[in-house]
Order: sequence, then C-alpha cells, then structure tokens
Amino acid sequence: MDVPYWLEEPAAPLPQGRLDGPADAAVIGGGVTGCSCALALARAGLRVRLYDAREIAGGASGRNGGFALRGGAMPYDRAREWIGAEEAREYWRWTESYLDRMAELGGDAFRRTGSLRLAVDEEEREELRAELDALLEDGFDAEWIDEPGGSLSGRFTAAILHPGDAVLQPARLVRRLARAAADAGAEIREHSRVESIDELDAESVVVATDGYPSGLLGELEGLIVPTRAQMLATEPLPELLYERPHYGRHGFDYWHQREDGSLLAGGFRDVALDSEFTADEVTTEPVQDALERFVTDLLGSRPRITHRWAGIFGLVLDFLPVVGRVPAQERLWVAGGYSGHGNVLGLACGELVAEAILGRPGPQLELFDPARLVLA
Ligand SMILES: Cc1cc2nc3c(=O)[nH]c(=O)nc-3n(C[C@H](O)[C@H](O)[C@H](O)COP(=O)(O)OP(=O)(O)OC[C@H]3O[C@@H](n4cnc5c(N)ncnc54)[C@H](O)[C@@H]3O)c2cc1C
Repeated sequence: MDVPYWLEEPAAPLPQGRLDGPADAAVIGGGVTGCSCALALARAGLRVRLYDAREIAGGASGRNGGFALRGGAMPYDRAREWIGAEEAREYWRWTESYLDRMAELGGDAFRRTGSLRLAVDEEEREELRAELDALLEDGFDAEWIDEPGGSLSGRFTAAILHPGDAVLQPARLVRRLARAAADAGAEIREHSRVESIDELDAESVVVATDGYPSGLLGELEGLIVPTRAQMLATEPLPELLYERPHYGRHGFDYWHQREDGSLLAGGFRDVALDSEFTADEVTTEPVQDALERFVTDLLGSRPRITHRWAGIFGLVLDFLPVVGRVPAQERLWVAGGYSGHGNVLGLACGELVAEAILGRPGPQLELFDPARLVLA
C-alpha cells in the first residue's frame, strides 16, 4: 500500500556505464534536481558520478503531487513585496521558461493542462484577487474564474486558472532525465549512500537531497527543514472531472485525476502540523483519515483507496530555494529547499548549479545564495 502510485510504473534498467578514476563532479541525490544537474554537466563533457541512497526518483521526486507550476513557493504578489518587483518578475519568467524546458525533456511524462488555484472562502478569494491583479499587471497569463461550476460548484468562491502549468508523471520524468544523463556518459550509482564528502574523488560535489537529511551540509543541514507530506490514490473513477492540478486552502489540499481515472490527493498536513516536521517517511492515521474524508466528500461516495504514501520535502524560512556554493566549503555545492514546490524549480536549479560549476553563474544565484541562511 505504501508504494507511491508513480513508482509502480515499471522502470527499464538504466545503462550501467562506469567511470574509471576521479570524477569532475559528484552529484548526491537522484531526484529531479540531481538528475537535471548530472544531465547538464555530462552534456557539457564533464565526468559525472551520481549517487542515490535509494533508486532514481525514490525520494520526493517520485512521491509528489505531479504538479508542474510556474513561480516560487509564495504567491506572486507576496514575492513582489518580499524580493522586489523586478526580481519577482524575473523569477516567475525564469520558471515559465523551465516549464517549456520540461515539456522538451519530459515527453509523455508532461501534459500542459493548466492548473486551478482555488479559494475556499472570502478571505482566500481576496488573496487570490490580489495575486491575479499582480500577475496581470506584470503581463503574465492568468484567468479569473468566479464561483467555479461543474464538479466544483458550491465549494469554492473563486479560482485562478494558470494556463501554462502542467501535470507530470514525475517518476517517469526523472527516470528519463537519468537515462539521458547516463546516455551522455554519467555514471549512476543507485543504492549508494554517501556518508562523507571525503569519500568522494571529485573536483566538485553537489548535494541535491532537498528535504532528506544527507548529513553532508554542515551548518546548512537543518536550515532546510525536513517536512512530511502525504498522499493517497483511489481506484479509477468512471468520470474524469479533475484532469488539471487543483489546489486550495493556500496549497494545503491538492488533487487531480490521471488519465485512467484514478484520483490522487495530497495535503492536510495542517491537521497535525507539528508532527509533520519530520524526515520519517511514513503515513499517519490523522492525515490519511482527513484525506479520505476529503475525497469522499468531493466524490459524494467513498472510493476504494489503492495507494497511500508519504514523502519528505525541504522547507525554507523565506520560501526561496537554496542554490550555490556551501559557505566555507571549497568544492561543495547545494541545490534544494523548494518548500514543497520543487518539480519545475528542481529542474531549473539542477541546471543552475551545473551552469555555475561550468563557470557560467546565472543571476538567480544571488537570490538563492545559501549564505543568507547561515548569516541570518
Ligand atoms: C507528497 C509530496 C507532494 C509534493 N507535491 C509537489 C507538487 O505537486 N509539485 C511540486 O512542484 N512539488 C511538490 N513536492 C515537492 C517536490 O516533490 C520536491 O521539492 C522535489 O521532488 C525535490 O526534488 P530533489 O531532486 O531536490 O529531491 P528528492 O527527489 O527528494 O531526492 C533526494 C534524494 O537524495 C537521496 N539522498 C539523501 N541523502 C543522501 C546521501 N547521503 N547519499 C545518497 N543519496 C542521498 C534520497 O534518497 C533522495 O532520493 C511535493 C513533495 C511531497 C513530499
């Protein structure tokens, strides 16, 4: 039961190529970030070795909601206040370009459906209105839906349709990235936990473990807070009502249906908020019960639950990713801390850190600088 819906899809074995001798870069973590980074480095001609304690996509990248959303982990209007108008606009545009990149790399793991951000009450409706106004003011595509109808009728006061967003089979996407990296010459070492950076014979080392404590980040460890999120999947349902990503209550609840009709729902961390700040990847009764009540209410009858699972993501106090050189470390880099918003950001930040190692630092590195956390 606790195998994620996504990871049940059979995976063809990866090419087993081995590098002789030292690597130019070692990448730790075989999720979307690590695979994106390894792919970019290998395609640039570097000798890359990627390690994961489990299998490719065994972490949050194979356990998530499958939403591929533009933007950061905070609403757009808040981002403008917190990081500055120009910076927010650049940040959002950058993630939009990575949705296009994901479409290119993802093949049939990616479907551009648009997403629906829903308001459950008047207060959230006002918040959405402020976000929509900010998006439109800055020239972004977004549509207002007043009192959404159909299967959403009577439940939500308003919604924003983000037309460029997409839905993923996230494990398939990441396996595809890993295969492309292997085809470009990267060595992929699954079931290999790295215990210490000293054991790695590599010029640069990238830690791409997001919320899973790697034990490798020194002072930074713990500033990317391990946070548990849980999901369930139902049996295939006869009607396809929620093909797009749907998310409400500030993103606490999220759900959509797969092409086979299965409904995947996640969230409700807030029914037991304190106990969900953990790296213990297990499902719990209070959250699973809340999820089950939610889908029963949504569908009007209790569906059969086929999968229940948990995953860990990395929460950062300022909701910005943590990407760049690890302070006071010669050859150590980090990319992670997406605060539950890591599909598009993971792909983007994996490439961002790779480009920095290749001597082409992107402007986003300033905003995502790990030093801001340890100096704060
Ligand atoms: C239930 C859930 C739902 C989510 N929904 C969404 C969503 O819909 N949209 C979205 O954008 N984001 C979502 N997220 C967040 C998103 O999944 C993550 O931010 C993203 O997958 C992080 O990718 P990553 O490659 O950085 O890390 P991960 O995919 O978590 O991979 C990290 C890997 O590092 C490995 N590792 C750790 N330590 C070591 C070590 N010492 N040695 C070797 N390997 C090590 C782990 O085994 C793991 O496989 C969700 C997260 C969860 C948990």
